Amino acid sequence: MIHTVLGEIESESLGVTLMHEHIMYSSAGADLVKSIDYDREQIVKHMLPYLQMLKKSGCNTLVDSTPPEEGRDALLLQQCASKTGLNIITNIGTFHGDKVFKEIREGSIDEITSYWIEEYHTGIDCTGVKPGFIKIALNDFGDLTSLQEKILRAAARASLVTGLTIQCHIKLTKSVLQAAHILIEEKLPFHKFIWAHADYESDVSTITDLARKGMWIEIDQIGRVPYIKPIQLLKRCINVDILDRVLISQDAGCYHVEEQWGGSIVPFHRLFTEFIPLCEQYGIKRSVFTKLLQENPAACLEIE
Ligand SMILES: [Zn+2]
Repeated sequence: MIHTVLGEIESESLGVTLMHEHIMYSSAGADLVKSIDYDREQIVKHMLPYLQMLKKSGCNTLVDSTPPEEGRDALLLQQCASKTGLNIITNIGTFHGDKVFKEIREGSIDEITSYWIEEYHTGIDCTGVKPGFIKIALNDFGDLTSLQEKILRAAARASLVTGLTIQCHIKLTKSVLQAAHILIEEKLPFHKFIWAHADYESDVSTITDLARKGMWIEIDQIGRVPYIKPIQLLKRCINVDILDRVLISQDAGCYHVEEQWGGSIVPFHRLFTEFIPLCEQYGIKRSVFTKLLQENPAACLEIE
């Protein structure tokens, strides 16, 4: 079973899935994001052609990874889903550094865990929309801070209770190793944890090691970096036989609320129209993408 913004579906119905995209984003910051004023209808109307194009290119499901502090809007996602027929999946969780709500900055591990579990049961922001995963983020430099460690432990405990998988923004290999250590202490199986942006440093030996232990490896900067980089990484994942643990996406989009007409938007469909055909030219079989875009997302997001 998986929660989309329009309700529960069986994981077999998920279909072709992009695991990490963004439809809307706000840079107002944690303290202001809940009070920003925007025209939801207008944003939906603006983003609709990008989502329709994605659907037309063969995609069935989009995982929206915008955390609450960056403008997660469950009602907007609901409208996008009902107007396009795409399954859209949203999250509970938080971001990092000063992009974290005061309640989370100041709360204890137990308080944050209970807050997320309650949000899971009652729905996001009183909308009744259920989250399909937990989104968190680690720092982009240095060691894990005490705030990060607290958030990670709370997410692990909320995952154990709700069955939701954690998608964690991690740019550094050093950070994922520190996170892995904490997950072991919290007794969260690695198959409930996605290392998002694993392609940022592309450290194949760490990727291979953690994938073999069950962690999901998300190659999600496709198009943000030249295609050749993820193609080479995918080929290495095939060579070391860890394809069962790999997810792909583009981290594309999105409507930036603070910019006129949302700023420049990166379309969602290019993975299908440009990247996959290019992969075939580099000898990656099309059947590989059934695993990466259908079988793996269904297994990863399944609520146990
Ligand atoms: Zn992202």
